Amino acid sequence: MRKIAVINQKGGVGKTTTAVNLASGLALLQKKVCLVDLDPQSHASLHLGVTLGGGETSIYDLLCGESTVSDVRRQITPHLDIVPANLDLAAAELELAGEVGREVILRDRFEAEDSNHDFMIIDCPPSLGVLTLNALTAVDEVFLPLQPHFLALHGLSKLLRTIDIVSKRLNPGLRLEGIVLCMYEASTRLAAEVSRDVEEFLVSNTSQSSVWSSARFFQTKIRRNIRLAEAPSFGQSIFDYAPNSHGAEDYLSLAREILETSSSVACSGNDTAAFSRN
Ligand code: ADP
Ligand code: MG
Repeated sequence: MRKIAVINQKGGVGKTTTAVNLASGLALLQKKVCLVDLDPQSHASLHLGVTLGGGETSIYDLLCGESTVSDVRRQITPHLDIVPANLDLAAAELELAGEVGREVILRDRFEAEDSNHDFMIIDCPPSLGVLTLNALTAVDEVFLPLQPHFLALHGLSKLLRTIDIVSKRLNPGLRLEGIVLCMYEASTRLAAEVSRDVEEFLVSNTSQSSVWSSARFFQTKIRRNIRLAEAPSFGQSIFDYAPNSHGAEDYLSLAREILETSSSVACSGNDTAAFSRN
């Protein structure tokens, strides 16, 4: 199983849109996917039409209670499951504060489960707190969505440092797999400039750690597309809401690209920076 966390501590960069539609795209390609909503705002759950009523279990019960993954997981389609969240999760940070081993609860819960999924994709909250740490210990790969914006680099070094520390102390297999450019507008120079700046930043920091030495920009860029912004209100992935849109085209292309790299993942990391400017 490939285990991926979609992380950026900034809000509004396309994490949830990417987690939901990439998961749905992979499911469309007949992969078995478990999407994990780790954000108290529960946007990923709402995006797929999952609204939890009182008394229904959520990822909060997995982290702070006795629930198992199969208690909490729900089926969206035959190939797509979700471990949903609701606002209860906002209390987890505080409740887990005194807990020994609080950063590895999610990992342990999933390891205790017999799973037949090909992918686990975690949608993270916009912070680097205990929830995101749980994601970083439960996965092997980090996908970083970036919006081409003049502040895109801001905060990147803190995120990379966090990934590096987690890989050294808690999860040696962890790596930054790639960067997804979201809300891309080909006509602007900014997108090209931001790509170049991020690339230079990563290359210049490569010697300090290997967790991002094999990272790359995914060739697929997610164009700005209004259908992607509309789909969540209808509780549908882009493939159900607007299958002929640019948004559907781009996320299916990203899913295909990720499947293509499945075979090469095992041998990545033995190179110096694998950055390519596309
Ligand atoms: P995050 O999870 O990082 O906070 P979201 O995925 O929720 O970011 O995206 C922020 C907003 O931008 C949402 O309203 C979403 O619908 C919209 N959005 C995301 N990607 C695109 C895109 N490619 N084109 C247009 N709107 C987008
Ligand atoms: Mg989000």
